[in-house]
Amino acid sequence: MTLMPHATVMTGNIADNWRTLDALHPGTTTAAVVKADAYGLGAARVARSLRIAGCQTFFVAYAEEALVVRKAAGKAARIFVLNGPVRGEMALYRDADLTAVLSSEAHAKLWANAPKGSCALHFDTGMNRLGLPADMTEKDLADLRRLQPVLVMSHLVSADEPDNPVNAAQRKAFNEIADAFPDTPASLANSSGCYLGKGFAYDLTRPGLALYGGTEPPEKVKLKPGVMLEATILATFKGRAGTQVGYGGAYTLSEDRMLATVGLGYADGIPRAGANRLTGWLQGNPCPVLGRVSMDMMTLDVTDCAKHAKPGARVEFLGENAKLEAQAAACGTLGYELLTGLGPRVQRVYR
Ligand SMILES: *Cc1c(COP(=O)(O)O)cnc(C)c1O
Repeated sequence: MTLMPHATVMTGNIADNWRTLDALHPGTTTAAVVKADAYGLGAARVARSLRIAGCQTFFVAYAEEALVVRKAAGKAARIFVLNGPVRGEMALYRDADLTAVLSSEAHAKLWANAPKGSCALHFDTGMNRLGLPADMTEKDLADLRRLQPVLVMSHLVSADEPDNPVNAAQRKAFNEIADAFPDTPASLANSSGCYLGKGFAYDLTRPGLALYGGTEPPEKVKLKPGVMLEATILATFKGRAGTQVGYGGAYTLSEDRMLATVGLGYADGIPRAGANRLTGWLQGNPCPVLGRVSMDMMTLDVTDCAKHAKPGARVEFLGENAKLEAQAAACGTLGYELLTGLGPRVQRVYR
């Protein structure tokens, strides 16, 4: 028994989410993006579960992250390194059989002149972030074809806005790239891109956040929570009408309420913007957070479920009841930031 906050990572649910996304596009390879330590949930455990579920293709940001996944997912998995190679890492790519994603002309030059494994080409179709220019000359394209890429890819700017015309514009630009590499598999969709229909799936999809229970999928796509975040009640007490709660007195009680203070705060990655807006769930009952989020604590109104509010009881802040995107919205952010921001003090438990 510990008082510290817990994140129970539900690897079975993550594998189920991968199967759900995989079933959306039969005949298309469904990869898994496990960068940033699988969005904070533990890349080794997550990759191992996905590998067992049938996933053979993984994406990470850095070669260092790829080594963790290689160890967990085994020799046969293909691992793409999104942020590109750097001189001095070439032996690493070769020895660990990593696939470098080349997204600049400097990357391509570096790769052409070094002993290496396989590579992919990432084209920029509208993001202005990382990517080779989409309007290359035929000669440049011929040079790139000589690198024998195993994948050509691009990344959607606003996949989470299905009606945004930029999606169709990027698809059109990407079709031209795919046509220039007729023998090479192509990939455009991240999680939300998987919901945009068949025309966006190409040969391989690259979901990340949806595997962990995030994104806003259409009605027919049922995702399960990838993680349950729980905090422990440290104390319960009566708050008197007219008194204030927490730093700055940011909440004034209009009547007597039963309060419970839990051990979870911004040091654990809960944004301060969640003050007066977040909800904790006690035995399935929603309990509003009153006042500010402090470093190690928050105070909840437990009046409506006071019989469950005992020191040592667990309060859910992410999970079946506390939906990731709803909690993130209450903090003025996205599921991406809330998940990857969970602090090192949150004990990861695997189930
Ligand atoms: C992070 C990332 C993904 C995964 O995005 P999600 O929105 O989490 O599904 C896919 N492709 C690229 C290039 C990425 O950087």
